[in-house]
Amino acid sequence: MSRAEPLSAVFQRLIATYGPISLLHYMGESNARYYADKDPLGAAGDFITAPEISQMFGELVGLWLADVWMRAGSPTPVHYVEMGPGRGTLARDALRTMKRVGLDPQVHFVEGSQALRALQAEAVPQAQWHHDLGSVPTDAPLLVVGNEFLDALPVRQLVKAAEGWRERMVDWAEDRFRPVAGDKPMDAAVPDAFRDMPEGTLLETCPGAAAVMQELSARLAAQGGAALVIDYGYAEPQTGSTLQALRAHTKVDPFATPGEADLTCLVDFAILAEIVGREGAKWQGTVTQGNFLRALGIETRAANLASASPHHADTIGRAMDRLIGDDQMGTLFKVMGVSAPDWPQGAGF
Ligand code: SAH
Repeated sequence: MSRAEPLSAVFQRLIATYGPISLLHYMGESNARYYADKDPLGAAGDFITAPEISQMFGELVGLWLADVWMRAGSPTPVHYVEMGPGRGTLARDALRTMKRVGLDPQVHFVEGSQALRALQAEAVPQAQWHHDLGSVPTDAPLLVVGNEFLDALPVRQLVKAAEGWRERMVDWAEDRFRPVAGDKPMDAAVPDAFRDMPEGTLLETCPGAAAVMQELSARLAAQGGAALVIDYGYAEPQTGSTLQALRAHTKVDPFATPGEADLTCLVDFAILAEIVGREGAKWQGTVTQGNFLRALGIETRAANLASASPHHADTIGRAMDRLIGDDQMGTLFKVMGVSAPDWPQGAGF
């Protein structure tokens, strides 16, 4: 594929012609370009994720799914669905663990990036790919996982200006992109509870995450099944911008190099839990990643792995600390459990 025009130039032209673009547009296009043709994960990339830190992560996720599936009566067929599977590492580790206890689901990956699809095919050759949940089969229960998927979906930000609520837009001025308040009144888009907040208040919403959660919940309610949604985020409502950009494991200005850094926002688990209930699915709870993995026995698993290969004991211990340490991924990352109303409550919630 010939290299496309830099996204920065595309945005500059668009802004020169039509005026500032919404942050939602800026973030959506930036990440689409960012993920389109590269593998951003790992030491040589821009960021590292839990399944890439240790096989224990995918194994425990697989164990959680297998446990609820068995207690639901081991329905067969059943579909494993992963949203944004990255390199396919989590799926490979989870599927290996599930197979050991007799669970061998059909595998479906929801993935937009061609580059990552190719890597996923190496890790899990039997997978089938989808652009979104819409084409995932409706004939059997779903066991769904999404790790660091929702944080990549674009957000809309509303700011309270002196004249009222405005959408946060992105302008090009003095040779750089910069956020500005839009000129259209957006008060109608603000929930009653927030309408009278003081000037300067910023509200962030992620329409894409809400849409995914709505569809997923409706599917689980109708077909049966359970899901784990794992991401960094907050479980109680909050205000303020959480937009950040990572490049080569370092935080950079989100407006400096669109399409070349990973843009993410914290996931609002409070609103997602509300959506689950509205669609008739069961919200099993939202807990910290540290508590979830401890409840599933990560310490025992780490000890077993270490005694099987003593040379790697230090590495295994460090990996576990990264996953569950309060100052690392243990507290900021949350795990939300969702299921069909008549499926059993999973471990750790
Ligand atoms: N779950 C993996 C990868 C996280 S990175 C891990 O934990 O390592 C985010 C993943 O979501 C990538 O696979 C990316 O290509 C995919 N993704 C991001 N936005 C997407 C979108 N709008 N539609 C489909 N997939 C998307």
